[in-house]
Amino acid sequence: MSLFPALHTESSGTALRFGERSLNYGELAAAAGRTAGGIGHAARVAVWATPTLETAVAVVGALLAGVPVVPLNPRSGERELAHILADSAPSAVLAEPEAELPEALTGIPRLDVDVAGDAEEEPGGTAPGGWVLATEPNPESAAFIVYTSGTTGPPKGVVLSRRAVASTLDALEDAWQWTADDVVVHALPLFHVHGLILGVLGPLRRGGSLHHLGRFSPEGVTGALTGGGTVLFGVPTMYHRLAEALGSQPALVQALSGARLLVSGSAPLPLEDHRRITEATGRHVVERYGMTETLMNTSVRADGEPRPGTVGVPLRDVDLRLVDDAGQRIEGGTEAAEAVGEVQVRGPNLFTEYLNRPDATAAAFDGGWFRTGDMATRDADGYVRLVGRKATDLIKSGGYKIGAGEIENVLLTHPGVAEAAVTAGPDPDLGEQVVAWIVPADAAHPPQQEELAEYVAGQLAPHKRPRTVHLRASLPRNDMGKILKRELAPQDGQEPQ
Ligand code: ATP
Ligand code: MG
Repeated sequence: MSLFPALHTESSGTALRFGERSLNYGELAAAAGRTAGGIGHAARVAVWATPTLETAVAVVGALLAGVPVVPLNPRSGERELAHILADSAPSAVLAEPEAELPEALTGIPRLDVDVAGDAEEEPGGTAPGGWVLATEPNPESAAFIVYTSGTTGPPKGVVLSRRAVASTLDALEDAWQWTADDVVVHALPLFHVHGLILGVLGPLRRGGSLHHLGRFSPEGVTGALTGGGTVLFGVPTMYHRLAEALGSQPALVQALSGARLLVSGSAPLPLEDHRRITEATGRHVVERYGMTETLMNTSVRADGEPRPGTVGVPLRDVDLRLVDDAGQRIEGGTEAAEAVGEVQVRGPNLFTEYLNRPDATAAAFDGGWFRTGDMATRDADGYVRLVGRKATDLIKSGGYKIGAGEIENVLLTHPGVAEAAVTAGPDPDLGEQVVAWIVPADAAHPPQQEELAEYVAGQLAPHKRPRTVHLRASLPRNDMGKILKRELAPQDGQEPQ
């Protein structure tokens, strides 16, 4: 099973563009082939995943060589890096020649990635400019060990097979009508599923191209979409910045209006940002829902009805069910709070195991179904509405189960609120109470607790109003822009910092 059929053709189309540097398919095949030759028969390699052409070439090279890749976040602290290296034990680290690697990596042989190459030198394999293994790797063999974002605890190493990668990308081809003509634009980091597997391997599997911006900016998005980009990938913090810029940048409005598809994922996109973007551009942002362990589960389809506030419908070949606390399956279509259940999924997109964690792997499955830890309801026609994570976003108050996301969405429509997060706090009468963490739009005149409580109660139900409001200058977020709720409201009952 070749992961990238287009690499084996002599296509002169652009495969990858990072800023001003680009490679066509022939050049990519040559560069990745050289890299594969350098890797040889290593058991596992790490890639120092800066947002560069070198990272993309390193990953494609390792996949051509049939060697599993551990992408490393260059912004990881020493502690996290040491944990990942001890856990995954890579035999080499691939990096761009200019990269200065931290001490944690000094004991590991380094392979510099050479993108340009020497015209005289023939690559290690026999295919046109490329490397070919004597036998294609088994589809069940590992393609990646990707570490989770660490939103709820220390990152876990997720072993992903070549089959899982191929099947999720092909299901997205179906959902997004993704073709070789698409030029995907993004500025995502390359050490997670979103930026790397969807954002780099996705275009390559289709025979299309990727334009990576290096750094995110609304102006960069305008330039790339105006210059031939057709599809934009982003996380909610990026769409929020686009929404903020729309009023002052008519060229951005035009660029987004002309894009074929705008896709958001990795965290919930607030309804207020959906509304602002649609109002200005006439376009709907498509939300898709996935995770490291399952790759992609659901998406609003390119040819389907957009429904902001939902993450669409299960992708082709993905089975999805909602299960209540008692382990009973919930059927879709009831608006009642009882219809909230944990999302469980099954399909060819699933991971193989957590590396070195048979206990965690076993605990994550319910007879073949993966327990995502995400809570959702389902519309009668199958659209999935994520309510939040079981661990941090579900508030059990006075007999109700309240999803944090719904309240966050309302708070964000209040003119005095720039950013909002909702968590559970202890309450002597209710068990738990709704606690809001607010970044005020104007620090000199922050909205008061009473006012926000009334505002929420007026739009949702009285029991959903925040009982405590904390004001903050910013909210703690990780590299993907996900709010780190465990830093806001530690589980051990200590007063949050
Ligand atoms: P960890 O597992 O280490 O705590 P993490 O779950 O954040 O970290 P990822 O695998 O990168 O690590 O993220 C998957 C999670 O991201 C999902 O379980 C879900 O909670 C959230 N997510 C992904 N897409 C969406 C979306 N469109 N809307 C809301 N949440 C999303
Ligand atoms: Mg997770």
